[in-house]
Amino acid sequence: MKQVTLSTDFTKPQPLTVSSKAETANHTYLDKRVTKSQRESKRTRSQRARERLQTKEHLAALAVGIGEAELGDKLRRCHSRLAVLTCGLHIAQIIPNFTCEFRLCPDCGRRRSRKLQNKYLPMMRAFLRHYHVKPVHLVLTQTHRKETRKQSAKRIKDAFTKLQRRSFWKEFFKGGTWSLEFTKDKNGLHHAHLHIVGFRRKFFDIELLRSEWLAVTGDSHVLNLKPISDIAAGLREVVKYVSKPLDIRRFGADDLREFLKLKNMRMFGTFGEFRDFCKGFDPSDNDDATDDLESLSRDLTEGCACPKCNEPLFDLRLSNNDLVRFYEGIESMPGESPPGKVRAKGN
Ligand SMILES: [Zn+2]
Ligand SMILES: [Zn+2]
Repeated sequence: MKQVTLSTDFTKPQPLTVSSKAETANHTYLDKRVTKSQRESKRTRSQRARERLQTKEHLAALAVGIGEAELGDKLRRCHSRLAVLTCGLHIAQIIPNFTCEFRLCPDCGRRRSRKLQNKYLPMMRAFLRHYHVKPVHLVLTQTHRKETRKQSAKRIKDAFTKLQRRSFWKEFFKGGTWSLEFTKDKNGLHHAHLHIVGFRRKFFDIELLRSEWLAVTGDSHVLNLKPISDIAAGLREVVKYVSKPLDIRRFGADDLREFLKLKNMRMFGTFGEFRDFCKGFDPSDNDDATDDLESLSRDLTEGCACPKCNEPLFDLRLSNNDLVRFYEGIESMPGESPPGKVRAKGN
């Protein structure tokens, strides 16, 4: 049985440092994205849990509709029964009966993105200690074309590979991570973005980077660059696209059919000198190794003290619907601190 730890629910993503006006002007898509993520961060835990349930039911129904009954069944079983370790007010750990591992499953996606954070955060911190580099969040976009998701993903990844070979890139960037996000416009045209945590060696003129991106894509100069002040928040921002590669609420049967063909496509990776650094990284040499997000509630059992309030923890068996109601109960308690006030250690 796999373990899912919800300790990171005690924290809320911190907004990234706002970039200068010059960097963000005239990019309506990116502005909308910011508004959307701000809106999302205001939802309560119960609302988010309910949305995950609805997303899964929507996906399961679509799967059954296109003859993928087994996938539909897996999605419905995934996280349907939960062993919850709680003090009554905080949840220290959730262990699901079953995980479907489907890439669009919001519950499995959360676990996957948490795993990536726990793996890469210590490496990023060590990298930042070793080298004189500054982390930035770079979003590379492409023009809309009539093509499949697979084609648009290949187009943007190929352009990024070309970009990395250019002397400009080598001079200013010392590697990082990338994640792929898909969007679809009103006309049904696919569109991929690369979200990059890049380690910048020194400042450069954003217009230079724009012209470099135009040179390798042939038709796109749209990008966004902003400094990352908190590397944990910066990484979290980027890996969320691994758990939410696209907007599933607008997903139809054809989208699911097409997505199933993407089975082996990589959605996250490392590049440049950071990639080599990760290969040689030994967590046991690192102070941060025991400071990851999951360590907060790892090895907890019934009777242990709640990491947040020290009250004893007990086991609850809940269905996924019960969990939503449990969250609602906690949220309605007077004096419960609003989400986002408490930060996990290691951030
Ligand atoms: Zn799942
Ligand atoms: Zn507690």
